[in-house]
Amino acid sequence: MTQDSTTQKTSGAGTVFLIGAGPGDPGLITVRGLEKIRTADAVVYDYLASPALLNEARPDAELIYVGKKGKDHTLEQDAINDLLIAKALEGKSIARLKGGDPFVFGRGGEEAEELVRAGVPFEVVPGVTSAVAAPAYAGIPVTHRDHASMVMFITGHEDPTKEESAIDWEVPARCPGTLVFLMGVKNLPYITECLMKHGKPADTPAALVRWGTTPNQVSLVSTLKKIPHEAEHKGIKPPAVLIVGSVAGLHDTLAWYENKPFFGKRILITRSREQSVGMARQISEKGGEPVLFPTITIQPPADTTRLDEAIEKIAEYDWVIFTSVNGVERFFQRFLHVRCDVREMAGPRIAAIGPVTAAAVQGRGIKVQLLAKEFTAEGLLAGLPEERTRGKRFLIPRAEKARDVLPEGIAAMGGLVDVVPVYRTCVSEVSDVEKVRDMLQKKRIHAVTFTSSSTVRHFVEILGRDSVHALTDGAVLASIGPITSRTMKEEQLPVHVEASKYTIAGLVNALAGHFSRSFRDGGGEVG
Ligand code: SAH
Repeated sequence: MTQDSTTQKTSGAGTVFLIGAGPGDPGLITVRGLEKIRTADAVVYDYLASPALLNEARPDAELIYVGKKGKDHTLEQDAINDLLIAKALEGKSIARLKGGDPFVFGRGGEEAEELVRAGVPFEVVPGVTSAVAAPAYAGIPVTHRDHASMVMFITGHEDPTKEESAIDWEVPARCPGTLVFLMGVKNLPYITECLMKHGKPADTPAALVRWGTTPNQVSLVSTLKKIPHEAEHKGIKPPAVLIVGSVAGLHDTLAWYENKPFFGKRILITRSREQSVGMARQISEKGGEPVLFPTITIQPPADTTRLDEAIEKIAEYDWVIFTSVNGVERFFQRFLHVRCDVREMAGPRIAAIGPVTAAAVQGRGIKVQLLAKEFTAEGLLAGLPEERTRGKRFLIPRAEKARDVLPEGIAAMGGLVDVVPVYRTCVSEVSDVEKVRDMLQKKRIHAVTFTSSSTVRHFVEILGRDSVHALTDGAVLASIGPITSRTMKEEQLPVHVEASKYTIAGLVNALAGHFSRSFRDGGGEVG
């Protein structure tokens, strides 16, 4: 189509960014794409764009779904074009998210032409196409010096009943490189037949990768002749790419993503939403799908008088003991509010119960003099000999409700202890309870993680003491350490995994070890 050179940019129109959202793994978007999502007034997306990317949009941004699933178009292409133009003419900047790359079988070219016609400015942010990424996550390089020096991207969407094919099948059939078909699942028998009819050997390796780069990825390696039958047998449906060529045979050697310990596993995180981010990242890194179910929220204590008093007389303390990252964060927030200067902390020495808590203190430029050997209250007490404790003054800023082992232990050695609440953990108003309950019921959650006693108590409370056991039956229940495990046992929940190092990383590693072992032993699979 030729472009009308007299087309003027409509003044005041917002820019439409045609953004490649990548093939599914939200980590595969470009930095530029992410920046545009974060600043757009409206985000227009289809069903292949990763839902996680939508969380990046501004809270006030308009989110518009225009998804397509085969023939089931929520909005026809014309309507999508009209929508983009109308929104842009309102002066809005628009992030138009498209799966993979917008200009690879994404109809991005057509949308751009319409925008030009309407005088709406646009930019293209290229993305990682599924044509390359899905094979890559299945351990299939689309080119390889020993296998393929060229690669062809082909649509598999053709109507096989059409008299005249738009594809000259001679060309791909004779191509000595790799063929990658998109949108080809429905036409698999037709595509493979055409290729063989035009001379592609029936024993050419062929692979299908469904939902590539996501925790739901499924791959199948076979031959050109056998793959339609095997795909049907394995129930492979769209979206999937078909790879034809000897590179497909490298899957067995190079598969890496599917070998990750959490591959195909959905893992529930029960801690507060703010604290879940790091843990979710560690789970994704190991190939799993984190499901956020924040059972607690962290709130300021009902009354800060005692905390403020302690902060006023901070120099009188010999030790301040921190028992959690939350405690550190909330304490310093209040400290700066009351004293305005972190240097006023100069007097007391600092102890921390675990390495992550210590890092939170050290991140504020303050040295930690004592770290518990085992990351529990008991472990910390072991590091405080009586001669260092007797007559000394201790401040423990921590949760409103917590165990008394530490203050009692110090008092028993003659220390003078002030325990002051710096935060409360409250039962969270979980918005997704029904969704998670449904996933548990259908045994689609493979593991539930507990990172404190309060996550256990609140989890039971939210799901109901009567139903929680049936709901979690079959899932692996994992605990961060012995105190949390004890609470689980009190709630009659089995403890399948307990971290030997009582940190989030320790818990994630212990769970990964569990899944690797049960995979090796051929058992322990759930759901
Ligand atoms: N613009 C997209 C392609 C859109 S056409 C891109 O560059 O990736 C839609 C087709 O892309 C699907 O039918 C399927 O063949 C392929 N596809 C998209 N995401 C995929 C994924 N995660 N795994 C496998 N194939 C995928």
